[in-house]
Amino acid sequence: MARSVFVFNTHDLPHRAGEMREYELDIEISDPLGIDLLSVKPGEIIEIDLRIQSVEEGVLATARVVATASGECTRCLKPITWPIDENFTELYYYQSRVAKTNAKKGSKSKLTDEEDIDLEVDDLSFMIGDEIDLEPAIRDAIILNMEVNPLCSEDCPGIDAKQGENWSYVPADQAQVSDDPRWSALKNFPLKN
Ligand SMILES: [Zn+2]
Repeated sequence: MARSVFVFNTHDLPHRAGEMREYELDIEISDPLGIDLLSVKPGEIIEIDLRIQSVEEGVLATARVVATASGECTRCLKPITWPIDENFTELYYYQSRVAKTNAKKGSKSKLTDEEDIDLEVDDLSFMIGDEIDLEPAIRDAIILNMEVNPLCSEDCPGIDAKQGENWSYVPADQAQVSDDPRWSALKNFPLKN
């Protein structure tokens, strides 16, 4: 199986609390990342400003995620681009340390405790040797900040039901020019002091 483009090797980071390294990564993705209507397309680059720090429990990753998603406006179906600029922080635990902690807690042998531990461990991210998998954190940073119903603009008028095309494409001579009589009184209103 090909190695995931999101896996990052931290071997340059000494495993000593307080050590820190910074990287700029360009991750070219081969599968779309996003939701049905909006996604970063295959071949696009996700830019990651990554900072990794050694902490007692493992490696703390702090990152800025910059990319461009594309999709369609849910109202008028016009193609849209969606700039992404998000941050995440994720702690990747050393596996050995968690195993030890679990063994200690497990020795209480109370069922409720064990259930609690299982839940906690499921939510944690672990290092695999020196490697950390950034994919879940990047995925969350991108998807959780996406609009479920993206629009080309806040006031997108939607599709003209009769003509089946976007309102903004209606030729000027068909558009109603508004010369609203309610405003005409204002034309003569002295705006200057
Ligand atoms: Zn629209």
